[in-house]
Amino acid sequence: MPATLIKGSEISKQIKEELKQEVSLLKEKYNLVPGLATILVGEDEASKVYVGQKEKTCKELGIYSERINLPNSTTEAELLLLIERLNNESKIHGILVQLPLPKHINETNVLYAIDPKKDVDGFHPVNVGKLMLGEPDFIPCTPHGIQELLIRSGVDTNGAEVVVVGRSNIVGKPIANMLLQKKKGANATVTICHTGTKDLAFHTKRADILIVAAGRPKTITAEMVKEGVVVIDVGVNRLETGLVGDVDFEAVKEKAKAITPVPGGVGPMTIAMLMYNTVQAAKMQSGIK
Ligand code: NAP
Repeated sequence: MPATLIKGSEISKQIKEELKQEVSLLKEKYNLVPGLATILVGEDEASKVYVGQKEKTCKELGIYSERINLPNSTTEAELLLLIERLNNESKIHGILVQLPLPKHINETNVLYAIDPKKDVDGFHPVNVGKLMLGEPDFIPCTPHGIQELLIRSGVDTNGAEVVVVGRSNIVGKPIANMLLQKKKGANATVTICHTGTKDLAFHTKRADILIVAAGRPKTITAEMVKEGVVVIDVGVNRLETGLVGDVDFEAVKEKAKAITPVPGGVGPMTIAMLMYNTVQAAKMQSGIK
């Protein structure tokens, strides 16, 4: 039987609706409006689209948004000065620097300059460390979206064999770390695969839940999964024929119990969780539980 679709487009709508109500309550009870600053350096077309979507979602939810577009010629020192200003700006609770940055700017220096309390991407080492300790303030948006997809679709992770393909700092490592925590929506046995893995299919075939963030179409084919697997396809690959994920969707959906489509799977969840983190940041900075 073909797989059930795990529709991030629908689940993210629910999350945004919940957040909209929370934002309205924060305004009513505490006169608090969460604020997000997004910084875009340069003219990367995909980045412009992403920043535009974030700005639009802020508006929908009643979150204050400040979009800062800087020319490609911006120096690292200028960007660091801007971040320092935003770190001290009380109406801004979250700061997001759209990646990738132009090559002459050191990404690490920039991400480390963001006040960890305003680091709504969850990339600052303080927040990475807290996540690893199981005491996160901010969970990075894409892995958080993946975990919410699993929880809200009723996928039981407790004791499950989870295989993650990809070990990036923004997807693979954090989602693996989150799912191995002794917590609700986690407590799985986690294997992480990468290009150094000798026999990828050996691992993927064992998976009850397979999370693929490799950035390459058809990294996972039907022969590489077992019947009844739950597949989360994080990949976004732009082909001439349109957007595809990392999984051979048409073939794998015939064996899987449930699968995320691309587009409409993980993507919309990432923005919803960015909004969630912005609301959390505003509450934390205002001492609201
Ligand atoms: P990345 O930094 O390029 O990392 C890719 C990882 O996959 C690496 O660890 C790499 O291994 C591993 N890998 C690549 N090919 C492999 C193969 N054939 N077998 C085993 N491992 C393989 O990518 P990323 O930033 O994590 O993103 C992954 C994908 O997710 C991309 O398509 C990206 O566009 C997408 N993405 C989507 C969202 C969203 O919101 N939907 C958010 C973030 C990323 P090595 O470490 O050995 O090189």
